[in-house]
Amino acid sequence: MLDYLDLESDLDGEERLIRDTAREFVDEHVRPEIGEWFESGTSPDHLFEAMGELDFFAPTLSWGTLPGVSPRSYGLLMQELEAGDSGVRSMASVQGALVMSPIHEFGSEAQRERWLPDLAAGDAVGCFGLTEPEHGSDPASMETTAMPDGDGYRLSGTKTWITNAPIADVAVIWCKIDDGDAGTDDPVRGVLVDLDGDGVSEEQGESEPRQTDRSGGVETSEIDGKLSMRASSTGEIHLRDAWVPEDALLPGVEGMKGPLSCLTEARYGIAWGAVGAARDCFEAAREYATDREQFGGPIARFQLQQEKLAEMATRITTAQLLADRLATLKARGDLRPQQVSMAKRNNVRMAREVAQTAREILGGNGITTDYPPMRHAANMETVYTYEGTHDIHTLILGADLTGIDAFE
Ligand SMILES: Cc1cc2nc3c(=O)[nH]c(=O)nc-3n(C[C@H](O)[C@H](O)[C@H](O)COP(=O)(O)OP(=O)(O)OC[C@H]3O[C@@H](n4cnc5c(N)ncnc54)[C@H](O)[C@@H]3O)c2cc1C
Repeated sequence: MLDYLDLESDLDGEERLIRDTAREFVDEHVRPEIGEWFESGTSPDHLFEAMGELDFFAPTLSWGTLPGVSPRSYGLLMQELEAGDSGVRSMASVQGALVMSPIHEFGSEAQRERWLPDLAAGDAVGCFGLTEPEHGSDPASMETTAMPDGDGYRLSGTKTWITNAPIADVAVIWCKIDDGDAGTDDPVRGVLVDLDGDGVSEEQGESEPRQTDRSGGVETSEIDGKLSMRASSTGEIHLRDAWVPEDALLPGVEGMKGPLSCLTEARYGIAWGAVGAARDCFEAAREYATDREQFGGPIARFQLQQEKLAEMATRITTAQLLADRLATLKARGDLRPQQVSMAKRNNVRMAREVAQTAREILGGNGITTDYPPMRHAANMETVYTYEGTHDIHTLILGADLTGIDAFE
Protein backbone atom coordinates (compact mmCIF):
# COMPACT_ATOMS: atom_id res chain seq x y z
CA MET A 1 0.00 0.00 0.00
CA LEU A 2 1.52 3.30 -1.07
CA ASP A 3 2.95 5.22 1.91
CA TYR A 4 6.13 6.50 0.32
CA LEU A 5 7.20 8.78 3.19
CA ASP A 6 6.32 6.31 5.92
CA LEU A 7 3.54 8.33 7.57
CA GLU A 8 2.49 4.99 9.06
CA SER A 9 5.35 5.11 11.56
CA ASP A 10 3.99 8.30 13.15
CA LEU A 11 0.49 6.90 13.77
CA ASP A 12 -0.54 6.18 17.34
CA GLY A 13 -2.47 3.10 18.46
CA GLU A 14 -5.92 4.65 18.05
CA GLU A 15 -5.10 5.88 14.55
CA ARG A 16 -3.82 2.49 13.43
CA LEU A 17 -6.81 0.72 14.90
CA ILE A 18 -9.31 2.97 13.13
CA ARG A 19 -7.39 2.83 9.85
CA ASP A 20 -7.18 -0.98 10.00
CA THR A 21 -10.82 -1.39 11.04
CA ALA A 22 -11.98 0.76 8.13
CA ARG A 23 -9.67 -1.04 5.69
CA GLU A 24 -10.99 -4.43 6.78
CA PHE A 25 -14.58 -3.16 6.56
CA VAL A 26 -13.99 -2.02 2.98
CA ASP A 27 -12.28 -5.30 2.04
CA GLU A 28 -15.08 -7.37 3.51
CA HIS A 29 -18.24 -5.33 2.87
CA VAL A 30 -17.51 -2.98 -0.03
CA ARG A 31 -14.93 -4.37 -2.48
CA PRO A 32 -16.67 -7.66 -3.28
CA GLU A 33 -19.84 -5.94 -4.52
CA ILE A 34 -19.06 -2.32 -5.29
CA GLY A 35 -18.67 -2.90 -9.04
CA GLU A 36 -22.11 -4.47 -9.18
CA TRP A 37 -23.72 -1.72 -7.07
CA PHE A 38 -22.14 0.92 -9.26
CA GLU A 39 -23.29 -0.75 -12.46
CA SER A 40 -26.86 -1.24 -11.24
CA GLY A 41 -27.04 2.15 -9.52
CA THR A 42 -27.68 0.59 -6.11
CA SER A 43 -27.04 2.53 -2.93
CA PRO A 44 -25.70 0.12 -0.28
CA ASP A 45 -28.08 1.36 2.43
CA HIS A 46 -27.67 -1.87 4.35
CA LEU A 47 -24.16 -0.71 5.31
CA PHE A 48 -25.51 2.03 7.61
CA GLU A 49 -26.01 -0.33 10.51
CA ALA A 50 -22.62 -2.03 10.21
CA MET A 51 -20.94 1.37 9.91
CA GLY A 52 -22.81 2.56 12.98
CA GLU A 53 -21.66 -0.47 14.95
CA LEU A 54 -18.06 0.45 14.11
CA ASP A 55 -18.49 4.12 15.17
CA PHE A 56 -17.91 5.44 11.64
CA PHE A 57 -20.39 8.31 12.07
CA ALA A 58 -19.05 11.52 13.65
CA PRO A 59 -16.47 9.69 15.77
CA THR A 60 -14.69 12.97 16.57
CA LEU A 61 -17.65 14.09 18.72
CA SER A 62 -17.62 13.46 22.44
CA TRP A 63 -21.25 12.97 23.37
CA GLY A 64 -22.94 9.89 24.76
CA THR A 65 -21.10 6.87 23.43
CA LEU A 66 -19.38 8.81 20.63
CA PRO A 67 -15.65 8.20 21.09
CA GLY A 68 -14.15 11.66 20.46
CA VAL A 69 -11.27 10.44 18.29
CA SER A 70 -8.53 12.69 16.87
CA PRO A 71 -8.85 14.55 13.54
CA ARG A 72 -6.10 12.33 12.11
CA SER A 73 -8.03 9.17 13.05
CA TYR A 74 -11.11 10.62 11.38
CA GLY A 75 -9.09 11.51 8.28
CA LEU A 76 -7.71 7.99 8.04
CA LEU A 77 -11.25 6.63 8.32
CA MET A 78 -12.37 8.82 5.40
CA GLN A 79 -9.29 7.79 3.41
CA GLU A 80 -10.02 4.08 3.80
CA LEU A 81 -13.75 4.43 3.09
CA GLU A 82 -13.11 6.38 -0.10
CA ALA A 83 -10.53 3.80 -1.19
CA GLY A 84 -13.65 1.61 -1.33
CA ASP A 85 -15.92 4.12 -3.03
CA SER A 86 -16.71 7.83 -2.79
CA GLY A 87 -20.36 6.92 -2.25
CA VAL A 88 -19.51 4.97 0.90
CA ARG A 89 -17.34 7.80 2.20
CA SER A 90 -20.22 10.19 1.42
CA MET A 91 -22.54 8.09 3.60
CA ALA A 92 -20.24 8.68 6.56
CA SER A 93 -19.45 12.33 5.69
CA VAL A 94 -23.05 13.40 5.31
CA GLN A 95 -24.30 11.50 8.34
CA GLY A 96 -21.42 12.66 10.55
CA ALA A 97 -20.11 16.03 9.40
CA LEU A 98 -23.26 17.45 7.83
CA VAL A 99 -26.03 16.10 10.07
CA MET A 100 -24.69 14.94 13.46
CA SER A 101 -22.16 17.78 13.77
CA PRO A 102 -24.69 20.63 13.38
CA ILE A 103 -27.13 18.86 15.70
CA HIS A 104 -24.33 18.48 18.24
CA GLU A 105 -22.94 21.97 17.72
CA PHE A 106 -26.08 24.05 17.24
CA GLY A 107 -28.91 21.83 18.51
CA SER A 108 -30.78 21.85 21.81
CA GLU A 109 -30.21 19.03 24.30
CA ALA A 110 -33.63 17.62 23.32
CA GLN A 111 -32.61 17.60 19.62
CA ARG A 112 -29.32 15.89 20.48
CA GLU A 113 -31.08 13.24 22.51
CA ARG A 114 -33.73 12.71 19.86
CA TRP A 115 -31.33 12.22 16.96
CA LEU A 116 -27.67 11.61 17.85
CA PRO A 117 -27.96 8.08 19.29
CA ASP A 118 -30.01 6.80 16.31
CA LEU A 119 -27.80 8.51 13.75
CA ALA A 120 -24.62 7.27 15.45
CA ALA A 121 -25.93 3.70 15.43
CA GLY A 122 -26.97 3.90 11.78
CA ASP A 123 -30.56 3.22 12.85
CA ALA A 124 -31.55 6.58 11.37
CA VAL A 125 -30.25 8.24 8.21
CA GLY A 126 -29.72 11.98 7.91
CA CYS A 127 -29.34 14.35 4.98
CA PHE A 128 -28.21 17.96 4.52
CA GLY A 129 -30.35 20.24 2.40
CA LEU A 130 -28.55 23.36 1.24
CA THR A 131 -28.40 23.30 -2.59
CA GLU A 132 -31.46 24.45 -4.55
CA PRO A 133 -32.29 24.14 -8.26
CA GLU A 134 -31.37 27.81 -8.88
CA HIS A 135 -28.70 28.23 -6.18
CA GLY A 136 -25.71 25.87 -6.05
CA SER A 137 -22.41 27.71 -5.68
CA ASP A 138 -24.24 30.71 -4.24
CA PRO A 139 -26.32 29.19 -1.43
CA ALA A 140 -26.71 32.54 0.36
CA SER A 141 -29.27 33.40 -2.33
CA MET A 142 -31.45 30.46 -1.29
CA GLU A 143 -35.20 30.80 -1.76
CA THR A 144 -36.46 28.22 0.73
CA THR A 145 -38.37 29.98 3.48
CA ALA A 146 -39.80 29.29 6.91
CA MET A 147 -42.86 31.43 7.59
CA PRO A 148 -44.01 31.79 11.22
CA ASP A 149 -47.38 30.05 11.72
CA GLY A 150 -48.83 29.42 15.18
CA ASP A 151 -46.24 27.87 17.42
CA GLY A 152 -44.14 26.77 14.48
CA TYR A 153 -43.18 27.50 10.89
CA ARG A 154 -44.30 26.57 7.40
CA LEU A 155 -41.46 25.59 5.10
CA SER A 156 -41.60 26.16 1.34
CA GLY A 157 -38.98 25.50 -1.29
CA THR A 158 -37.02 22.81 -3.10
CA LYS A 159 -33.65 21.35 -2.22
CA THR A 160 -31.84 19.35 -4.89
CA TRP A 161 -28.83 17.09 -5.23
CA ILE A 162 -29.28 15.99 -1.66
CA THR A 163 -27.27 12.88 -0.77
CA ASN A 164 -29.49 10.27 0.89
CA ALA A 165 -32.65 12.41 0.72
CA PRO A 166 -34.76 9.51 -0.63
CA ILE A 167 -33.86 7.26 2.30
CA ALA A 168 -33.41 9.81 5.09
CA ASP A 169 -35.29 9.95 8.37
CA VAL A 170 -34.23 13.51 9.13
CA ALA A 171 -33.12 16.43 7.00
CA VAL A 172 -31.19 19.49 8.11
CA ILE A 173 -32.88 22.11 5.93
CA TRP A 174 -31.22 25.50 5.58
CA CYS A 175 -33.75 28.24 4.89
CA LYS A 176 -34.58 31.89 5.51
CA ILE A 177 -37.06 33.00 8.12
CA ASP A 178 -39.69 34.98 6.23
CA ASP A 179 -41.26 37.38 8.71
CA GLY A 180 -43.06 39.24 5.92
CA ASP A 181 -40.92 42.34 6.45
CA ALA A 182 -39.84 43.17 2.88
CA GLY A 183 -36.49 44.84 2.55
CA THR A 184 -34.89 43.28 5.60
CA ASP A 185 -32.33 40.52 5.28
CA ASP A 186 -34.03 37.33 6.41
CA PRO A 187 -31.69 35.28 8.61
CA VAL A 188 -30.60 31.82 7.46
CA ARG A 189 -31.57 29.11 9.95
CA GLY A 190 -31.23 25.34 10.12
CA VAL A 191 -34.41 23.33 10.66
CA LEU A 192 -34.61 19.64 11.53
CA VAL A 193 -37.32 18.16 9.36
CA ASP A 194 -38.44 14.74 10.49
CA LEU A 195 -39.07 12.98 7.21
CA ASP A 196 -40.86 10.14 8.90
CA GLY A 197 -43.57 12.51 9.96
CA ASP A 198 -43.20 12.77 13.73
CA GLY A 199 -42.13 16.38 13.62
CA VAL A 200 -43.96 17.55 10.51
CA SER A 201 -47.53 17.67 11.56
CA GLU A 202 -50.87 18.19 9.93
CA GLU A 203 -52.49 19.32 13.17
CA GLN A 204 -52.48 22.95 12.25
CA GLY A 205 -56.07 22.97 11.12
CA GLU A 206 -57.27 24.78 8.05
CA SER A 207 -54.03 25.36 6.22
CA GLU A 208 -53.06 21.70 6.29
CA PRO A 209 -50.11 20.55 4.21
CA ARG A 210 -51.27 19.01 0.96
CA GLN A 211 -48.54 16.51 0.13
CA THR A 212 -48.39 13.47 2.29
CA ASP A 213 -46.00 11.21 0.42
CA ARG A 214 -43.57 11.02 3.33
CA SER A 215 -45.12 13.42 5.83
CA GLY A 216 -47.25 16.53 5.65
CA GLY A 217 -46.01 18.88 2.94
CA VAL A 218 -42.72 17.06 2.40
CA GLU A 219 -41.94 14.91 -0.57
CA THR A 220 -38.64 13.40 -1.65
CA SER A 221 -37.68 12.01 -5.01
CA GLU A 222 -34.67 10.19 -6.43
CA ILE A 223 -32.46 11.80 -9.09
CA ASP A 224 -31.98 9.24 -11.84
CA GLY A 225 -29.53 9.10 -14.70
CA LYS A 226 -26.36 9.79 -12.71
CA LEU A 227 -23.13 8.63 -14.34
CA SER A 228 -21.15 9.41 -11.17
CA MET A 229 -21.71 8.33 -7.54
CA ARG A 230 -23.90 5.55 -8.82
CA ALA A 231 -23.59 3.58 -5.57
CA SER A 232 -25.13 6.44 -3.60
CA SER A 233 -28.65 7.75 -3.29
CA THR A 234 -29.22 11.37 -4.35
CA GLY A 235 -32.52 13.18 -4.42
CA GLU A 236 -34.71 16.23 -4.12
CA ILE A 237 -36.73 17.47 -1.17
CA HIS A 238 -39.91 19.38 -1.96
CA LEU A 239 -41.38 21.44 0.85
CA ARG A 240 -44.89 22.75 0.33
CA ASP A 241 -46.17 24.60 3.38
CA ALA A 242 -44.72 21.86 5.55
CA TRP A 243 -45.41 22.77 9.16
CA VAL A 244 -42.71 22.17 11.77
CA PRO A 245 -42.87 23.08 15.46
CA GLU A 246 -40.73 25.95 16.70
CA ASP A 247 -38.38 23.56 18.48
CA ALA A 248 -37.39 22.05 15.10
CA LEU A 249 -35.15 25.11 14.57
CA LEU A 250 -31.50 24.64 15.52
CA PRO A 251 -31.26 27.25 18.27
CA GLY A 252 -27.50 27.73 18.30
CA VAL A 253 -26.74 29.32 14.94
CA GLU A 254 -28.00 32.03 12.63
CA GLY A 255 -26.63 33.04 9.21
CA MET A 256 -24.49 31.32 6.58
CA LYS A 257 -21.85 30.39 9.13
CA GLY A 258 -24.20 27.52 10.10
CA PRO A 259 -24.05 25.58 6.80
CA LEU A 260 -20.56 26.82 5.94
CA SER A 261 -19.03 25.51 9.17
CA CYS A 262 -20.58 22.09 8.46
CA LEU A 263 -19.09 22.17 4.97
CA THR A 264 -15.63 22.93 6.35
CA GLU A 265 -15.92 19.77 8.47
CA ALA A 266 -17.02 17.68 5.50
CA ARG A 267 -14.37 19.15 3.17
CA TYR A 268 -11.70 18.19 5.67
CA GLY A 269 -12.87 14.58 5.31
CA ILE A 270 -12.92 14.88 1.52
CA ALA A 271 -9.31 16.12 1.44
CA TRP A 272 -8.38 12.84 3.14
CA GLY A 273 -10.87 10.70 1.25
CA ALA A 274 -9.61 11.74 -2.17
CA VAL A 275 -6.18 10.38 -1.23
CA GLY A 276 -7.80 7.00 -0.58
CA ALA A 277 -9.52 6.91 -3.97
CA ALA A 278 -6.29 7.91 -5.72
CA ARG A 279 -4.27 5.33 -3.80
CA ASP A 280 -6.73 2.62 -4.80
CA CYS A 281 -6.33 3.62 -8.45
CA PHE A 282 -2.55 3.67 -8.14
CA GLU A 283 -2.44 0.19 -6.58
CA ALA A 284 -4.67 -1.20 -9.33
CA ALA A 285 -2.44 0.38 -12.00
CA ARG A 286 0.82 -0.76 -10.39
CA GLU A 287 -0.42 -4.34 -10.11
CA TYR A 288 -1.78 -4.35 -13.64
CA ALA A 289 1.39 -2.86 -15.10
CA THR A 290 3.59 -5.49 -13.49
CA ASP A 291 1.27 -8.37 -14.51
CA ARG A 292 0.21 -7.36 -17.99
CA GLU A 293 2.59 -8.45 -20.73
CA GLN A 294 2.96 -6.85 -24.16
CA PHE A 295 5.89 -7.08 -26.58
CA GLY A 296 7.26 -10.01 -24.59
CA GLY A 297 7.29 -8.60 -21.06
CA PRO A 298 5.40 -6.59 -18.44
CA ILE A 299 4.24 -3.15 -19.55
CA ALA A 300 5.78 -1.80 -16.29
CA ARG A 301 9.21 -2.11 -17.93
CA PHE A 302 8.41 0.65 -20.39
CA GLN A 303 9.65 4.07 -19.33
CA LEU A 304 6.37 5.66 -20.42
CA GLN A 305 4.45 3.55 -17.88
CA GLN A 306 7.05 4.11 -15.17
CA GLU A 307 6.80 7.85 -15.65
CA LYS A 308 3.04 7.64 -15.13
CA LEU A 309 3.43 5.57 -11.96
CA ALA A 310 6.18 7.85 -10.61
CA GLU A 311 4.04 10.93 -11.21
CA MET A 312 0.97 9.33 -9.61
CA ALA A 313 2.91 8.21 -6.54
CA THR A 314 4.47 11.65 -6.11
CA ARG A 315 1.15 13.46 -6.37
CA ILE A 316 -0.59 11.06 -3.98
CA THR A 317 2.24 11.46 -1.49
CA THR A 318 2.13 15.26 -1.57
CA ALA A 319 -1.65 15.12 -1.10
CA GLN A 320 -1.17 12.76 1.86
CA LEU A 321 1.21 15.29 3.42
CA LEU A 322 -1.29 18.11 2.92
CA ALA A 323 -4.09 16.10 4.56
CA ASP A 324 -1.81 15.05 7.37
CA ARG A 325 -0.83 18.66 8.06
CA LEU A 326 -4.51 19.66 8.22
CA ALA A 327 -4.96 17.04 10.94
CA THR A 328 -2.17 18.59 13.02
CA LEU A 329 -3.59 22.10 12.63
CA LYS A 330 -7.12 20.89 13.39
CA ALA A 331 -6.03 19.02 16.51
CA ARG A 332 -4.52 22.17 17.95
CA GLY A 333 -7.47 24.35 16.92
CA ASP A 334 -5.58 26.38 14.33
CA LEU A 335 -7.15 25.11 11.09
CA ARG A 336 -8.65 27.82 8.90
CA PRO A 337 -11.42 27.11 6.35
CA GLN A 338 -9.20 28.50 3.57
CA GLN A 339 -6.55 25.88 4.36
CA VAL A 340 -9.23 23.21 4.05
CA SER A 341 -10.20 24.74 0.70
CA MET A 342 -6.62 24.42 -0.51
CA ALA A 343 -6.49 20.74 0.44
CA LYS A 344 -9.95 19.89 -0.95
CA ARG A 345 -9.09 21.66 -4.19
CA ASN A 346 -5.66 20.10 -4.60
CA ASN A 347 -6.42 16.59 -3.45
CA VAL A 348 -9.60 16.12 -5.44
CA ARG A 349 -8.00 17.45 -8.63
CA MET A 350 -5.10 15.08 -7.97
CA ALA A 351 -7.45 12.11 -7.48
CA ARG A 352 -9.44 13.01 -10.60
CA GLU A 353 -6.29 13.03 -12.73
CA VAL A 354 -4.69 10.00 -11.07
CA ALA A 355 -7.87 7.99 -11.68
CA GLN A 356 -7.76 8.87 -15.37
CA THR A 357 -4.08 7.94 -15.70
CA ALA A 358 -4.68 4.65 -13.89
CA ARG A 359 -7.56 3.91 -16.23
CA GLU A 360 -5.24 4.53 -19.16
CA ILE A 361 -2.62 2.06 -17.83
CA LEU A 362 -5.30 -0.65 -17.65
CA GLY A 363 -6.03 -0.35 -21.37
CA GLY A 364 -9.39 -1.78 -22.45
CA ASN A 365 -9.90 -3.53 -19.11
CA GLY A 366 -9.74 -0.09 -17.51
CA ILE A 367 -13.18 0.88 -18.75
CA THR A 368 -14.97 -1.91 -16.88
CA THR A 369 -16.26 -2.19 -13.32
CA ASP A 370 -13.94 -5.19 -12.84
CA TYR A 371 -11.26 -2.67 -11.89
CA PRO A 372 -11.70 0.44 -9.73
CA PRO A 373 -10.12 3.35 -11.71
CA MET A 374 -13.00 4.16 -14.07
CA ARG A 375 -15.50 4.02 -11.19
CA HIS A 376 -13.31 6.30 -9.06
CA ALA A 377 -12.80 8.60 -12.07
CA ALA A 378 -16.56 8.87 -12.54
CA ASN A 379 -17.08 9.52 -8.82
CA MET A 380 -14.44 12.22 -8.83
CA GLU A 381 -16.61 14.28 -11.17
CA THR A 382 -19.04 14.65 -8.27
CA VAL A 383 -16.37 15.13 -5.63
CA TYR A 384 -14.78 17.85 -7.81
CA THR A 385 -18.17 19.60 -7.90
CA TYR A 386 -19.82 19.12 -4.51
CA GLU A 387 -18.84 20.71 -1.22
CA GLY A 388 -17.74 23.76 -3.22
CA THR A 389 -16.65 23.33 -6.81
CA HIS A 390 -12.97 23.47 -7.76
CA ASP A 391 -13.60 26.99 -9.11
CA ILE A 392 -15.22 28.17 -5.88
CA HIS A 393 -12.27 26.94 -3.81
CA THR A 394 -9.97 28.76 -6.24
CA LEU A 395 -11.88 31.96 -5.50
CA ILE A 396 -11.76 31.32 -1.74
CA LEU A 397 -7.97 30.98 -1.98
CA GLY A 398 -7.75 33.99 -4.29
CA ALA A 399 -9.64 36.13 -1.77
CA ASP A 400 -7.49 34.87 1.09
CA LEU A 401 -4.24 35.51 -0.77
CA THR A 402 -5.08 38.94 -2.18
CA GLY A 403 -7.65 40.34 0.22
CA ILE A 404 -9.87 40.96 -2.82
CA ASP A 405 -13.11 39.00 -2.98
CA ALA A 406 -13.87 37.90 -6.55
CA PHE A 407 -17.39 36.85 -5.54
CA GLU A 408 -18.45 40.51 -5.19
C1 LIG B 1 -23.90 13.51 -6.36
C2 LIG B 1 -24.06 14.85 -5.68
C3 LIG B 1 -24.37 14.89 -4.33
C4 LIG B 1 -24.59 16.11 -3.69
N1 LIG B 1 -24.94 16.13 -2.36
C5 LIG B 1 -25.36 17.31 -1.80
C6 LIG B 1 -25.92 17.32 -0.48
O1 LIG B 1 -25.97 16.30 0.22
N2 LIG B 1 -26.40 18.50 0.00
C7 LIG B 1 -26.37 19.67 -0.72
O2 LIG B 1 -26.83 20.69 -0.22
N3 LIG B 1 -25.82 19.69 -1.98
C8 LIG B 1 -25.32 18.54 -2.52
N4 LIG B 1 -24.80 18.53 -3.81
C9 LIG B 1 -24.84 19.77 -4.60
C10 LIG B 1 -23.48 20.40 -4.84
O3 LIG B 1 -22.97 20.94 -3.66
C11 LIG B 1 -23.63 21.44 -5.97
O4 LIG B 1 -23.81 20.70 -7.17
C12 LIG B 1 -22.45 22.38 -6.06
O5 LIG B 1 -22.44 23.27 -4.98
C13 LIG B 1 -22.46 23.20 -7.36
O6 LIG B 1 -23.70 23.78 -7.57
P1 LIG B 1 -24.42 23.64 -9.01
O7 LIG B 1 -24.43 22.21 -9.37
O8 LIG B 1 -25.70 24.35 -8.92
O9 LIG B 1 -23.46 24.36 -10.02
P2 LIG B 1 -23.37 25.94 -10.31
O10 LIG B 1 -23.23 26.70 -9.03
O11 LIG B 1 -24.47 26.32 -11.22
O12 LIG B 1 -21.99 26.01 -11.08
C14 LIG B 1 -21.85 25.67 -12.47
C15 LIG B 1 -20.42 26.00 -12.90
O13 LIG B 1 -20.19 27.41 -12.74
C16 LIG B 1 -19.04 27.61 -11.93
N5 LIG B 1 -19.21 28.85 -11.14
C17 LIG B 1 -20.24 29.14 -10.28
N6 LIG B 1 -20.03 30.32 -9.70
C18 LIG B 1 -18.84 30.78 -10.16
C19 LIG B 1 -18.05 31.96 -9.94
N7 LIG B 1 -18.44 32.89 -9.05
N8 LIG B 1 -16.89 32.09 -10.61
C20 LIG B 1 -16.47 31.15 -11.47
N9 LIG B 1 -17.15 30.02 -11.73
C21 LIG B 1 -18.33 29.83 -11.08
C22 LIG B 1 -18.92 26.37 -11.07
O14 LIG B 1 -17.59 26.18 -10.62
C23 LIG B 1 -19.37 25.28 -12.04
O15 LIG B 1 -18.30 24.90 -12.85
C24 LIG B 1 -24.48 17.32 -4.43
C25 LIG B 1 -24.12 17.26 -5.78
C26 LIG B 1 -23.91 16.06 -6.41
C27 LIG B 1 -23.55 16.03 -7.87
